[in-house]
Amino acid sequence: MKQKMSHIKTSMHDLWHTLFPDLCLACLKMPKTRDAYFCIECLHDMPYTDHFIIKDNNVTRHFKGRISLHHGAALLRYREESIVQNMLHGLKYKKRKEVGEVMGAIAGSKFLDSSIFLRPDIIVPVPVHHKKVLRRGYNQSTIFGYAVSEQIGVPFVEDVLTKVVETKSQTGKSRTARVANVEEVFVLNKPADISGKHVLLVDDVVTTGATIEACCLKMQETNVSKISVLTIAAAL
Ligand SMILES: [Zn+2]
Repeated sequence: MKQKMSHIKTSMHDLWHTLFPDLCLACLKMPKTRDAYFCIECLHDMPYTDHFIIKDNNVTRHFKGRISLHHGAALLRYREESIVQNMLHGLKYKKRKEVGEVMGAIAGSKFLDSSIFLRPDIIVPVPVHHKKVLRRGYNQSTIFGYAVSEQIGVPFVEDVLTKVVETKSQTGKSRTARVANVEEVFVLNKPADISGKHVLLVDDVVTTGATIEACCLKMQETNVSKISVLTIAAAL
């Protein structure tokens, strides 16, 4: 009887899934494959990086000589007009929080499988200005970082850093000017929370790296033991 009920339950689930398929997280067009987040095509095309298993990768190379990182990784490669851009745009501007949640869960499980990425003591998001949080409803890096923290069982602490000035576009400025410009807009609020600890800084996407570099420099004002960086995507 019990077996029959579970059989009926499975068939009902299949029928439900056929009638009302959840849409793929990436393209929002095709139905998801069962028990996955993406449709078959996006699942196949998802540009995962090798950053969780390779120490000398695009992210660590990008910051070499600028900041000393224990490790750096992006889950995906970012390209214009791609499914990754589509997802990040949704997360940032269309209240698609689930993108950050799912990417955090996937990044967290890749982290757990990684033999080179040491377990951090604390996860800290790159902050966005409070006015932007009000407009968007959330900080996208917080959504991602919190999901990573749930997956790997490491505390997540918001507001270790805060952004006190709203920044305009950084395009066209030199790297030094960009870093100097963004460094003064961050404040290290809770140095005691990260002192002596291995901090994992999380962000949605790394492009020039100026924001991440500035956040790391701020955190180094106290005696952090190590800093690592994890982002959803890297446009490097
Ligand atoms: Zn898709």
